[in-house]
Amino acid sequence: MKSKMIFYPAPLPDEHILSTLARWHAMQGVEGLQTSAKKLTKCIHNLNPSAIWRPAYQDIFNAYGGALPIEKFMKHTLYNYYETFEPHEAYINEVKINNRWITPKNQFQLKFVKIWRWCQFCAREDYNRYGTTFWHLSHQIPSTICCPKHHTKLTHTCNKCDFITTNLGELPLPPENNKCPNCNAEYIVENTITPTQKWINDISIKIHLGITKSTLPKIKEKMIAVSGYALIDAKKTLKQKCRMGEIQRDFNEFICQSGIKEFFSNPSILENSSSRNIVLISKILHSTLFFPPLYYFALASFIKTEKEILDNFFIGEEDYA
Ligand SMILES: [Zn+2]
Ligand SMILES: [Zn+2]
Repeated sequence: MKSKMIFYPAPLPDEHILSTLARWHAMQGVEGLQTSAKKLTKCIHNLNPSAIWRPAYQDIFNAYGGALPIEKFMKHTLYNYYETFEPHEAYINEVKINNRWITPKNQFQLKFVKIWRWCQFCAREDYNRYGTTFWHLSHQIPSTICCPKHHTKLTHTCNKCDFITTNLGELPLPPENNKCPNCNAEYIVENTITPTQKWINDISIKIHLGITKSTLPKIKEKMIAVSGYALIDAKKTLKQKCRMGEIQRDFNEFICQSGIKEFFSNPSILENSSSRNIVLISKILHSTLFFPPLYYFALASFIKTEKEILDNFFIGEEDYA
């Protein structure tokens, strides 16, 4: 089958690699994205942006027949964004050799991991410029909330019928007319953004673009140094335990009040129970588990509000004094 393929579209600037599959499908003029996708890959289910790497990526990579080097190809995946936080999993060579799923851990509570999102202004511009809309990679970063170009909130759920898409089979490409493909209602986006949401959004984009480079141990080290939370994991007196309990409760409240809860799939859990810890500070700082980048951003913005200090947790390797 693959040898019969004449043309497979090169990724557009900031295009998610799975989006090329959707545009390729649109060129075939056949019903059902899965029908056309099958010609290229066996991995046609749950075509959503949640994985760092999946076998379908390998099949798409092969479709370029070497015309797109792996380093350039990776720039159309979320590899860069996750690399700092998943250092043991995501080596390019390992990816190439094993051709397996690499999925970020502990992301089940995050709202935007599997939902395809778009910016209505980008969609219109792309349609006018390229004759098609496409899925932007920067709109699929689970800890972003706005389009980096237009600074408006991303679209994902129909206000009228709750239509969302977690599979390209349901909605191959974003609508160019800002209307729900299911019920035809106009999408309405509420553009209020809290300062914390804005900082989390901006640092996520910087990490995705490779502007900031640090390592996870370094990030944790800096956060412990600034916050003084080293005690959390050490042997504690009763007084210290109480103090840490208070800090954790404040953190839970902060997640609700700063707008961070908007990144979670079930924020009502947070509001209804003050004892529920969606994110344990001690685990973020001291366990060897991998957490979604959002967890580190949430804790950082709880520790400090000054943008320079916050950025410094994630930028560069210089020591924080
Ligand atoms: Zn935009
Ligand atoms: Zn609708």
